[in-house]
Amino acid sequence: LWSQVLERLQEKLTRPTFETWIKTASAQQLENNCLVICTPNPFARNWLQKYYIKTIVGVVEEILGHSVEVQITVAKENGVSAFNEPEVGWPAPIEPSTPEPPNNRPKPTELNPKYVFSRFVVGANSRMAHAAALAVAESPGREFNPLFLCGGVGLGKTHLMQAIGHYRLEMCPNSRIFYVSTEQFTNDLIASIRKDSMQSFREHYRAADVLLVDDIQFIEGKEYTQEEFFHTFNTLHEAGKQVVLASDRPPNQIPRLQERLCSRFSMGLIADIQPPDLETRMAILQKKAEYENMRLPREVIEYIAYNYKSNIRELEGALIRAVAYISISGLSMSVENLTPVLNPPVEKVEAFPDAVLMVVADEFDVSVEDLKGNSRRREISWARQISMYLMRQHTDLSLPRIGEEFGGKDHTTVLYSCDKIAQLRENDTNLAQTLRQLSDRINLASRHSS
Ligand code: ADP
Ligand code: MG
Repeated sequence: LWSQVLERLQEKLTRPTFETWIKTASAQQLENNCLVICTPNPFARNWLQKYYIKTIVGVVEEILGHSVEVQITVAKENGVSAFNEPEVGWPAPIEPSTPEPPNNRPKPTELNPKYVFSRFVVGANSRMAHAAALAVAESPGREFNPLFLCGGVGLGKTHLMQAIGHYRLEMCPNSRIFYVSTEQFTNDLIASIRKDSMQSFREHYRAADVLLVDDIQFIEGKEYTQEEFFHTFNTLHEAGKQVVLASDRPPNQIPRLQERLCSRFSMGLIADIQPPDLETRMAILQKKAEYENMRLPREVIEYIAYNYKSNIRELEGALIRAVAYISISGLSMSVENLTPVLNPPVEKVEAFPDAVLMVVADEFDVSVEDLKGNSRRREISWARQISMYLMRQHTDLSLPRIGEEFGGKDHTTVLYSCDKIAQLRENDTNLAQTLRQLSDRINLASRHSS
């Protein structure tokens, strides 16, 4: 069966796609109308699942003549299964699993071993937050209490916060370091109310030497959690214990936050982390690559750093994808070979719809009127689809509004175009490159006119 499937797939897919993603997979079993396909690693699994599952199911059903379910798994020898979490770099060494000791009490959240000071790259964007975190780690409960870390998603708040925990544990292995997300705190609270065990809840949190509470912005509007946290906070603070909070915005911008909590949160030090500059981003990639034993040409580091600006998690994710792709495909590590997997998120510069139209019209040698019109000439409708896709990426306009920009087209037409281009882009290096250049030009044009 599998060889038949392969044959059909080979006809349906482009050669690089087939060679890279399909040939490396194998069929494992067919039972109860469920075909299990085995891939060499989590990356390949995710990829097949995301882009080719429909094609594969279609082909298998065609051959068998009835409906089947297709499951994609990862080969056993490769014990990595957490590719979704970029922290767990891939490829990673296989760690022997240690049996967990029996334990009735909920396990405290463990600190991520990678979130230590030595792995944090300090740039101008994070100098102050880093210095404050270090000061707190050295002498908790003294100067900056609470330490309130704030900054956008993926900029290192959790990393810094946990680094404080690691540092304390190294200095003083018996100190009680509690790391919780606000959500966990809330869930724990609700469970304790249900089980009538508020007493032990309070004893637990108030026994911390250092309490690290992540994503505290989620406390907004949760009256009961705010109430309880207020008392936890006060008890710890009065006892000279350190509290560290992380949030995506400063206390006074958290809506529906009790006044008294807002003022408590602001009484220590509020340290913010900004998006890193290009050099810092390159240094972060370099460091990550060293730790993961990856060798990367400078142009690749530059390319990734240049394109992923506002979220270090995405920056790292891009690096991991690049390395995984290269190791599976056997291609050489170059920017050109990487374009299919590194479609950088377009930065929204709030482009004007006209900027998109003009740039695309110019590139494809058609007129703006053509784009807005109804001509079905191939070159024109191709350029129109591309401009719809780019307008979707570069503006906040809704699909119907984009339709209006194109002379009153239906929103389903817009959706269809956006989808089509997005799919083609995944597999077409040239198109990906063209789109990237167009994006750059649209950004430029919009910056000049704003
Ligand atoms: P946040 O909590 O702000 O959303 P995280 O702390 O989870 O962000 O960071 C996201 C990822 O980026 C993590 O893998 C983290 O190790 C990494 N990271 C963030 N900032 C830095 C930095 N300055 N140096 C090295 N790695 C960083
Ligand atoms: Mg975080």
